[in-house]
Amino acid sequence: MLLPASVASLESAPLALIIDLVRSGRATTRPELVTATGLGRKVVTQRVDQAITLGLLEDGELAPSSGGRQARTLRFKSRAGYVYGALVGASEFTAAVLDLDGSIITSHHEDWAVDLGSERTMRRLGAAFAGMARTTGLARPWGIGIGMPGPVEFATGRLVAPPIMPGWDGFSVRSWFRDHYDAPVWVDNDVNLMALGEWTAGKPHDGRDMLFVKAGTGIGAGLINRGRLLRGDRGAAGDIGHVHVSDDPSTRCRCGRVGCLEAVASGWSLLEEATRRVQESPRLSALAGPLALGDIGAAALAGDPLANELVDRRVQALAEVVAHLVNFTNPGVLVLGGGALRTGPRFTELVAESVLARCTDLVTQDLVIRPASLDQMEGVIGAGLLAGGGLLAPASLAHWAESGSPLGHAADLQRLSAELG
Ligand SMILES: [Zn+2]
Repeated sequence: MLLPASVASLESAPLALIIDLVRSGRATTRPELVTATGLGRKVVTQRVDQAITLGLLEDGELAPSSGGRQARTLRFKSRAGYVYGALVGASEFTAAVLDLDGSIITSHHEDWAVDLGSERTMRRLGAAFAGMARTTGLARPWGIGIGMPGPVEFATGRLVAPPIMPGWDGFSVRSWFRDHYDAPVWVDNDVNLMALGEWTAGKPHDGRDMLFVKAGTGIGAGLINRGRLLRGDRGAAGDIGHVHVSDDPSTRCRCGRVGCLEAVASGWSLLEEATRRVQESPRLSALAGPLALGDIGAAALAGDPLANELVDRRVQALAEVVAHLVNFTNPGVLVLGGGALRTGPRFTELVAESVLARCTDLVTQDLVIRPASLDQMEGVIGAGLLAGGGLLAPASLAHWAESGSPLGHAADLQRLSAELG
């Protein structure tokens, strides 16, 4: 018999907590779990046994002795199940099969224009998943995590008035996948998932609060505070691309307003201005066909004056907004990601210079500023972690622990995650 969600989640909270402590490496032996949770030894032993029966934990080697009897370490079995994850960008997507810890088993990258519409994009993603299911034999994911390049209402998985995605307003990515897969689906904004992936799997890992800023075709930010993503009330936190930074009427944004940060500093505005002024650069004007962002990045790296002028102006505008965010949120680490990294180390240096000049001493004293470390894969890793985390949340575990697997419980798991956030 099913217990009401709230009661069930209380009962299984120790199980979820114990698995989370081992999974994150914060406690790796039974005595450490007793200390970390404040639970009695008997309860810890019972819950560890339950997690081992579920296939989520296993005994490892003996821990180094601290004087008394050596305790056996516990390990999270990240391959107990697997999830599908995808990160959709404005002009490309990456899809992957991942384990419960966000490690990629296999991945697929493809150039794809998101403005081709919702149905075509979803079908294309579905085809990518089907291809990977064939090559890996992993055709029944426990869950699915998807990142989208626009505002996502987190509770429902719906796009809400995405500026660069005509026809997507109100489209539920979650419903589409729920109609095609018997698995719960979690959908988030792309930058949130990049932040989650980098915070969890990036290097160096120091566990401090992280502000992740993506500068590419679009611009956005994600904040991890005490290990949790800050989503705000509906899921729109960090969506900085359309904050007002200029009154210049020539800076018309794709959202229809004037003077948005994206209109002044994004990759698409860079491409637009470089194309308009291409004759000023012998290097760029010698290229055949329409310019691509990669061309401008390469030209900037090679010291092309026009490319550098255009990139530097954008980095300055971005850095000013980032400095406000850093002052406001006081992160331990500021990570810069997105296509702008392809213009070379100068991007990170310029942002760092500006942030350090504009922020208060207490904010900058221990602040680390670095580029993203996962070779543009942090977003799809974050998508996998989102699904893995959803499956292992107390309410979800409470529901499927008794039957031993989340497979076959998709509708209930989805309902629980909607109820409990
Ligand atoms: Zn705008």
